[in-house]
Amino acid sequence: MTLKGLPRVTISHRGAQRLSAGHPWVFSGDVRDDGGAVSGDVVLVQQRRRSGKLRVLGCAFFNRESMITLRLIESGEAVIDRAFWRRRLQQALELRARLADEDQAGRLVFAESDGIPGLIADRYHQVIVLQTLCAGAERLRRQWVELLQELTGVDTFVERNDTAARRLEGLPERAGMLQGRLAGPLQVRLGGLLRTIDPLAGQKTGGYLDQRHNHRRAGQLARGRCLDVFSYQGGFGLSLAAGGGTPVTLLDQSERALEIARADAASNRLQVETRCGNAFDVLRGLQQQGQRFHTICLDPPAFAKNKRALESALRGYKEINLRALKLLEPGGLLITSSCSYHLSVDLFEDILLQAARDARRQVQLLERRGAASDHPERLGFPESRYLKCLLLRAW
Ligand code: SAH
Repeated sequence: MTLKGLPRVTISHRGAQRLSAGHPWVFSGDVRDDGGAVSGDVVLVQQRRRSGKLRVLGCAFFNRESMITLRLIESGEAVIDRAFWRRRLQQALELRARLADEDQAGRLVFAESDGIPGLIADRYHQVIVLQTLCAGAERLRRQWVELLQELTGVDTFVERNDTAARRLEGLPERAGMLQGRLAGPLQVRLGGLLRTIDPLAGQKTGGYLDQRHNHRRAGQLARGRCLDVFSYQGGFGLSLAAGGGTPVTLLDQSERALEIARADAASNRLQVETRCGNAFDVLRGLQQQGQRFHTICLDPPAFAKNKRALESALRGYKEINLRALKLLEPGGLLITSSCSYHLSVDLFEDILLQAARDARRQVQLLERRGAASDHPERLGFPESRYLKCLLLRAW
């Protein structure tokens, strides 16, 4: 479509300021006139100057159903057609080619961070899993499959749109094949280990690709008795075992996830023990028994799914970190993560300090880590900086 034919959405001065500060979203309260746009449209975003003149700020996806009414695609005027998206995808793929390591899985497209609002594409060897998390990205679903097939040669595509984030966009939750067939879970080489990934039924798009470099780092530092809390299929725990940690215990409330972890341990000739239960209770029990570990990984689900939930989430984060610190041998390592965007790294460190004080432990911060670099942060867009992984040593 040519620029002239696009709906024009006029936004407030505050909305315009937000865009010029580098944030790609405009909220519904800053939309003055939607120009008759339909959810899923690409629109021209404009601002009325004091002089009364209209100035085009950029092109964006529009969604009337969402608080995030506009997601900026490009500043200024641009023709957003198939060729445009092909170039954007190519840019995203060039980055991944440059970052390539021996892993057979990684993130190809990270939405706004790659200039493609709402689109997530994760590759697991010969399968690509897509999430289209806004109306504009949703409308182009067929096109993403065609273009990614053209650019990568992969021809099996799964959709994992069964995520709560879609509800906020007025989009239905849905999962299944988009193209091709999958006989069952895949075996994928990750961090030097053969791992089972089920793109159709696993968590997120099948696994926690954002943590994969942290898994590897944990393996490099593993020593002595290790505990992987909130282990899922053993991303941290299997790395700890491969790195020489022994014995290694994996703890999760999902027996299905632990079953896969045990099978993966066996196929990689590794020894792990698993415990199914509520982490809060099991950690308390271990402490009462006077157990000690040299290395503990904590990787809970996002306790703070929104701002309102932050208060109770803080208590949860503090409690598990406090319990973990009490279980650490002097000189032991705590590898502690939070994937709540609403918990800033400063606040997270504050909680750890409080937990250390209550546990009467001195803590050294060795590394502040984040998501793997194929999940790049977009500067000016703090929502893309969500994963924090701190490496601590406690005395
Ligand atoms: N560490 C994993 C990802 C963990 S995702 C990796 O790096 O691959 C969070 C996990 O916490 C999920 O597997 C979920 O089943 C588990 N979980 C959530 N609440 C829990 C609780 N209260 N006790 C134990 N496990 C829990």
